[in-house]
Amino acid sequence: MSKPRIAIVGAGLGGIAAALLLRQEGFESTLYEQAPAFSRLGAGIHVGPNVMKIMRRLGLEQRMEVMGSHPDFWHSRNWNDGALLSEIPLGDYARKTYGAAYLTVHRGDFHQLMVDAVPSGGIQYDKRLTAIDDSGQEVLLRFADGTTAKADIVIGADGVNSVMREHMLGAEAPRYTGYVAHRAVFPASALAKYNMAFDPCVKWWSEDRHMMVYFVTEKQDEYYYVTGVPQAEWDMSKAWVQSSQEEMYEAFAGYHPMVQSLIDACSDITKWPLLERDPLPLWSRGRLVMLGDACHPMKPHMAQGAAMAIEDAAMLARCFKEVGAEDFETTFALYRANRIERASRVQKVSHDNTWLRENEDPGWVFGYDVFNVPLIEPARVAA
Ligand SMILES: Cc1cc2nc3c(=O)[nH]c(=O)nc-3n(C[C@H](O)[C@H](O)[C@H](O)COP(=O)(O)OP(=O)(O)OC[C@H]3O[C@@H](n4cnc5c(N)ncnc54)[C@H](O)[C@@H]3O)c2cc1C
Repeated sequence: MSKPRIAIVGAGLGGIAAALLLRQEGFESTLYEQAPAFSRLGAGIHVGPNVMKIMRRLGLEQRMEVMGSHPDFWHSRNWNDGALLSEIPLGDYARKTYGAAYLTVHRGDFHQLMVDAVPSGGIQYDKRLTAIDDSGQEVLLRFADGTTAKADIVIGADGVNSVMREHMLGAEAPRYTGYVAHRAVFPASALAKYNMAFDPCVKWWSEDRHMMVYFVTEKQDEYYYVTGVPQAEWDMSKAWVQSSQEEMYEAFAGYHPMVQSLIDACSDITKWPLLERDPLPLWSRGRLVMLGDACHPMKPHMAQGAAMAIEDAAMLARCFKEVGAEDFETTFALYRANRIERASRVQKVSHDNTWLRENEDPGWVFGYDVFNVPLIEPARVAA
């Protein structure tokens, strides 16, 4: 298998990162994406130094640097009086201490940068995977449009409702956590009239809910909030629904005037269910392997879900380089051994929603360098 046919299902941040990083190691792949096209979805995303080191390897670090906001701190504040609960240094401190910048960006801009880095024809759109036949010798992928594709190795990067996961482990819907996230992106100019000093990156906390707020552009001209709010039920047939300012005022009644101003500033608000699974013991079977949300979906409360998908991609590429594609079972075992502990720990802390609420050292997350961390032998990790 000197030139294996590698199929990647899903062109989210994890799938594209896998394609780009594998390419750097000499392995070509094809991405199959269900969406007919991508749009600039209204959402932000934190990009920590652990991810920026991977962007550096891809030659995309500088383009990220000028795309995103560079907060000097992550602040946590008490819900009603705004008292500071924590102040986590980022900015220059992050560069010196963790080896790269800490950014907050527009998710659509970040994704588009990754899409643009894929060689022409590398993403096949409108290809919704519906079935997988693994003969042992090769894998046949079947898509909703009636077409098929053959591959030697298939990487499942198809997100929280993964068809790959279902094929490998049986049908089981992800768990609705009883929490929703409201999201809104709006021009920062809408805040000028309130005459308040809005933090570049802040999380407002009360006992059962929160609101995370940050800029998503370098010029700090677009602001974003994302919440975590209890809601007993969710219609699992819907990926998201429209929300409203009325709903937000009710959910955040009594919160600080700054939070009220944020709600006042934007009427276009969406609402998403927060889904998760318990850590999976099985990451690969035969010629199939998973990464990112397909494998370990989590609550977004460490802002590290996409980061874990991108780190998975980098470690998978590193293991391909180390072992090769011929002995893919050893490659996949090495990959799992070197990812499962970290991804499961991040899943757990995200679930608990305690991250950076009080001053703590985030070095184990931000300081991680997927390319230089010593590799663990699979035999040393529980099956
Ligand atoms: C409210 C919220 C806020 C978040 N904030 C952050 C943050 O600040 N930082 C962070 O790192 N993470 C954050 N996350 C988590 C992050 O969004 C996910 O962990 C991340 O997107 C996972 O990447 P992925 O590539 O594994 O999956 P996805 O991004 O879900 O991509 C999967 C891709 O596969 C495609 N696909 C699905 N099924 C099929 C199929 N059958 N056939 C073909 N294609 C298919 C999808 O269309 C999609 O393009 C947040 C999540 C939420 C809900």
